[in-house]
Amino acid sequence: MNRNKGMVLLVGAGPGDPGLFTRRGAEAVGSAEVILYDRLVNPGLLDGAPDGCEKIFVGKGVGNHGLSQKEINELIIRKAREGKRVVRLKGGDPFVFGRGGEEALALEEENIPYSVVPGVTSAVAALAAAGIPITHRGLARSFHVITGHTMERDTAHAGESAEQGRFVPYGSLEGTLVFLMAVAELPVIAGELMEGGKSGKTPACLVEQGTTIRQRRIDGTLETIAGMAQEQGIRPPAILVVGEAAAFHLTSRALPLSGRRIGVTGTFAMVRKLSADLEGLGAQVFEACYLKIVPTSVLARRNPDFEQFSWLVFTSANGVEQFFEQIRDMDIDIRRLSRCRFAVIGPGTGQALWNHGIRADYMPCRYTVEELAQGVAGLALPGERLLALRAGEGSVNLARIWQREGLGFEDLGIYETRADEEAVRTLRQQADVLDTVTFASASGVRAFFESARSRSGDPGPGAEGENPGKRRLPQRLVCIGNKTEEALRERLPGEEWGRIRTAKEYTAKGLVEACLDG
Ligand code: SAH
Repeated sequence: MNRNKGMVLLVGAGPGDPGLFTRRGAEAVGSAEVILYDRLVNPGLLDGAPDGCEKIFVGKGVGNHGLSQKEINELIIRKAREGKRVVRLKGGDPFVFGRGGEEALALEEENIPYSVVPGVTSAVAALAAAGIPITHRGLARSFHVITGHTMERDTAHAGESAEQGRFVPYGSLEGTLVFLMAVAELPVIAGELMEGGKSGKTPACLVEQGTTIRQRRIDGTLETIAGMAQEQGIRPPAILVVGEAAAFHLTSRALPLSGRRIGVTGTFAMVRKLSADLEGLGAQVFEACYLKIVPTSVLARRNPDFEQFSWLVFTSANGVEQFFEQIRDMDIDIRRLSRCRFAVIGPGTGQALWNHGIRADYMPCRYTVEELAQGVAGLALPGERLLALRAGEGSVNLARIWQREGLGFEDLGIYETRADEEAVRTLRQQADVLDTVTFASASGVRAFFESARSRSGDPGPGAEGENPGKRRLPQRLVCIGNKTEEALRERLPGEEWGRIRTAKEYTAKGLVEACLDG
């Protein structure tokens, strides 16, 4: 049982896109007791850690200098000695300029068991993501990965390069030259490569935040690239690529959502489904799973006698999932439902029900709460009772309609949706590069506009924050239905309503189609 206790895993976190994290890395995070991570690690990867896992940021951040390498080594050793399962999570591959080698050596010295989980290095992936083939038949027969960081720079005086001429020899190399940590030294690197024999006309390109939703590519030549980087404000992490391969742009524009950057919000299940569909159509997707489904104790407390109800009514797939989970926990055999009929709001909810082996008896033609309530009311015979199993914060119209019709019913809020404020904040930080954000519920809209604004000093979406004059609201706000649209209108001034697109069909498929609509 205590296997791997006191062991350290040096894990590569990949270049940024969470989809490029390895399966073995995710497994390591999933069973970690302590994780030490850097600035370059996508914070979303930490969501996979078990509850109670200690997450320690050891990188340099705004206003702190981070731990020294020696302090990091000591911390890893201390945690391992305490018998913890330690994961040291590092951007890209742990042994590509990550000082992973030094950490492994420190562990060897202390005789602490460790193992290395390779990662997808940015030195290769950032180029591919930007459409640059790192080798190309007849043009680039090798590639060379070089640090642009000069070791003694920290101790050298301003303007003086401690290792003058260090890049000159690379000027005579064939193939693709890939410089990491190069932003601060661009003029020196470019100048010395030319001094070493490279033509000033050699294609040179910078890839900033490769593989992420913020990826940016700047194209120039050895002569121009440093000036362009300064003009356009390129900041780390970025990679400099020099050589004929840097002139390629191998990214297809042939799909309907090619070039689009879409933020997808909602619950984990909804986001995963939507983002797979949108990516399939060529979009770059930022997944913001900021809504969590939290069960309430209402069903267990109420413990209804299902034989008394003719109809069970569901308004979401989440409601269906929660219901079956909760009755299982309550030790209720599914055959107790055998006399009930089932109504669902739309095909997604119907599918969730079918996943549990039950075909819905009724689904309205238009997928709204009102249509559903009215439809079931029309089918219910005199004296039959209805049971709605849905979100605590669901629309009041369902109960209103049934009351008006004089029906006997119960309306149980068996779950609630809660917003993860950190995840909302992360999405807001990306809002300036997104052309579209999708909302699959009114609660998703509420969370996006209202979460923790005051505490973080975040002025909220659409506000003119640090960047006056530039609104951070995406061009299109796509919502799944009229309730979601209403929630958006309430929070936006009239002149912004033109950004709103509403799905014609209130389903995930409808949302995707609304994204395709100009
Ligand atoms: N071990 C890492 C590299 C660490 S050195 C790896 O294998 O990728 C840090 C440098 O990596 C940064 O200064 C930058 O040059 C590069 N880098 C890391 N992630 C990057 C990304 N997503 N886009 C562009 N460059 C990146």
